[in-house]
Amino acid sequence: MVASASLDEVVEVQRQLFAERLTAYRKEGLKVFASSSFQTHSIPMLHLISELDADIPVVFLQTGFHFPETLSYRDEIAELLGLKIINVESAIPKLAQRDGAGRFHFASDPSYCCYLNKTKPMEPILGEYDVWITGVRRDQSSTRKNFQLEAPGPFGTTRFHPMLDWDNRMIHHYRKQNNLPPHPLEAQGYLSIGCAPCTQKFSLGDPNDRGGRWAGLKKTECGLHTDLAKS
Ligand code: SF4
Repeated sequence: MVASASLDEVVEVQRQLFAERLTAYRKEGLKVFASSSFQTHSIPMLHLISELDADIPVVFLQTGFHFPETLSYRDEIAELLGLKIINVESAIPKLAQRDGAGRFHFASDPSYCCYLNKTKPMEPILGEYDVWITGVRRDQSSTRKNFQLEAPGPFGTTRFHPMLDWDNRMIHHYRKQNNLPPHPLEAQGYLSIGCAPCTQKFSLGDPNDRGGRWAGLKKTECGLHTDLAKS
């Protein structure tokens, strides 16, 4: 009972922090958007956006390589929470996204594939907005543990990381309290879900929840946050 109450308090502190920053951005007249990959752990941030300012658009990078379950989950959550979704995709057709051997780039050069389908399509959005809300968390990987609540972003944006200090316990608690559904693949053992070709189920030897992403490669970031991971 005590543990549950303290978890409520911890979550409330985070909610207030989120609300205060959004109020400050609004007062400064800044244009704010969020991006989400629509996973189970995205849900608290999306729910808080729907409560605090449902006019904030949520960008979904439609790489063309997502699990169908992710697309249906995105649609379910968008409808449930009344979110304004902007689906963003690469201007380069998939047929032109192949290497010399005819394979999609994710098979031979995943960083280039991420550049074509994530980093590059995000650029016009970043040029249009002042503040970029993302759901990154310190506990997701060793490269994210030193991220700050706010950080400079590309094209003069400010990155805002309202979920930075959330952990799995808080996310689970928040989801239960608000009766929010999990991503359908979580029950099958997927703890971090990106594009299908680059995502595996969590295995016991993985160092963190993101261990199933680009498994067997040194790559740990898609490119959207790589500059922060290096600094
Ligand atoms: S996660 Fe994989 S499939 Fe998705 S854009 Fe990056 S390399 Fe391509």
